[in-house]
Amino acid sequence: AENAEYLISKIRTIPGFPKEGILFRDFMPVLADARAFGVLLDALEAALPVDPNDFDAVAGLEARGFLFGPALAARLGKGFIAVRKAGKLPPETVSQHYDLEYGQAAVEIETSAVHEGERVLIVDDLIATGGTANAASALIEKCGGKVSGFSFVMELTGIDGMKSLQGYPASSLITMP
Ligand code: 5GP
Repeated sequence: AENAEYLISKIRTIPGFPKEGILFRDFMPVLADARAFGVLLDALEAALPVDPNDFDAVAGLEARGFLFGPALAARLGKGFIAVRKAGKLPPETVSQHYDLEYGQAAVEIETSAVHEGERVLIVDDLIATGGTANAASALIEKCGGKVSGFSFVMELTGIDGMKSLQGYPASSLITMP
């Protein structure tokens, strides 16, 4: 409980970023603090939505999923798959478009990054609507992989992002408005 409180104390809240009316949750101070970073990785491992034997790789979402996903993967003895924003990766790539509040975005993966039948845990810092996480999931499956579940550091309440994950096992460490 003391560790959980310590972790939460390192989440910084910035009102009005990146635009008016948004309460931005920043977990960078967690990574900057050695104790908090250790607590984060311990907590993610303890809260995995599926047994580590039931997935083969960890996929992280650009950009903040890149900051702790590889560390978690290494701890668990798994490889890491980078799910990137569109236009960053050399061919062959697979894309998945998804809707944002205003407009569209796309995520991409290198076709060879996912093996046929590979079971993948998807990680990101935060789930809001779930649009990004669902796009990543569709991408893994387009490449012949199987999504085992989702791990998030933070979950925003009142948006039902977790419910949008279509019954896949999912966990988050911190719930906030
Ligand atoms: P969603 O697609 O679930 O609506 O939004 C989640 C994505 O947007 C994640 O990739 C996450 O990093 C980013 N995001 C949205 N709101 C916040 C926020 O308040 N803080 C942080 N750190 N990321 C956010």
